[in-house]
Amino acid sequence: MWPVQRRLLQILFALLFCAAATPATADLVATAARVGDHGGKTRFVLELTEKAPFQVFVLPDPYRVVIDFPVVDWHLPPHQDQRPVGLIDSYRFGLFRPDTSRVVLDVRGPVEVTAAELLPPRDGKPYRFYIDIRPTGRDAFLAAAARDRERLAKIAAIRPEPLPATPPVAKEARRYTIVIDAGHGGVDPGTIGVHGGQEKDLVLAVARRIAGELHKSPQYRVVMTRSSDVFLSLRDRVAVARKEEADLFISIHADSIKSPKVRGATVYTLSETASDDEAEALAHKENKSDVIAGVDLALHDDAVSGILIDLAQRETKNFAAAFAKILLPEITQRNGGVSRDHRYAGFRVLRAPDVPSVLVELGYLSNSQDYDFLFSKAGQERMTEGVVSAVDRYFREIRSE
Ligand SMILES: [Zn+2]
Repeated sequence: MWPVQRRLLQILFALLFCAAATPATADLVATAARVGDHGGKTRFVLELTEKAPFQVFVLPDPYRVVIDFPVVDWHLPPHQDQRPVGLIDSYRFGLFRPDTSRVVLDVRGPVEVTAAELLPPRDGKPYRFYIDIRPTGRDAFLAAAARDRERLAKIAAIRPEPLPATPPVAKEARRYTIVIDAGHGGVDPGTIGVHGGQEKDLVLAVARRIAGELHKSPQYRVVMTRSSDVFLSLRDRVAVARKEEADLFISIHADSIKSPKVRGATVYTLSETASDDEAEALAHKENKSDVIAGVDLALHDDAVSGILIDLAQRETKNFAAAFAKILLPEITQRNGGVSRDHRYAGFRVLRAPDVPSVLVELGYLSNSQDYDFLFSKAGQERMTEGVVSAVDRYFREIRSE
């Protein structure tokens, strides 16, 4: 190739890369905002193009009401009417964090939020978020602010780290949420491999690759429970899956065992009774993660407390088993292992009753061959291919609606 042509190609690639790296615009668009005075109460309305989760809380000194949404593209008419209406003196909106857009209502005095709801489209109107406020006393306002602070601290504690926005997709396309859970992390190294490498580092590397590949498809929304070397309790991992209303939860691990010859990948699903002794011992080992990291379980907020394994819905279990059945051959055919039936045991991290969940043991770090394969770039790419292929097949064959 001529040098000039090569140079042009380099520039072209650079331009393409820049275009790909530019953050995509949000799917969620705010098209109108208004304030109405209804005698005793004041109502703030925001029209949205899509359904969106929201958080409402109040802040004192000065008195404010705050509403958080996922990232919103603000297409509001210029010169929004900002004269005081009812109890609302003015309001502001914009990006608060890379993953959060915020509306702040400056209110005239202490107020009480009496309603906050997202209404579905009707009579040609789009989604409408509305919030009603009415006057209250300062003490009641401060008490509400304290309650909100406590509630938000709990949510912040389980906040997953979002990936960059995915390119917009056609409205009709069903978008599946997949939570990728890299096991262990931070103070909990997981198992230590035969050549010294740690499970927590390996599974994070593989989880990132899987998330990165899935993220390329506009069909998937991908959330990682952790994307750095931090510890997360098993309950928090489950809480992420539930909060994100995940369609699939994949926990990535790598095992070790006394016998150095044993190798190969295994896929586990949840069951109160284990499929075999080894599965039971493994679940026991993985369940120790919280204890290893010094989590005070008595102080730990438990989003799923009291939910027994028995209550896990049959449908959820069936979906998990169907995915495990697809996943196991996809990965064993790529690591030269033997494809067996998937196994099951009482893994606490798989306990979300409404999210099909599987735990993948990529291989045995006590086996030299598995160790070298899994810590190599090629090996990690092969495992990633296997998981992504299984996810594609699962949503195409099992969950297509
Ligand atoms: Zn593990």
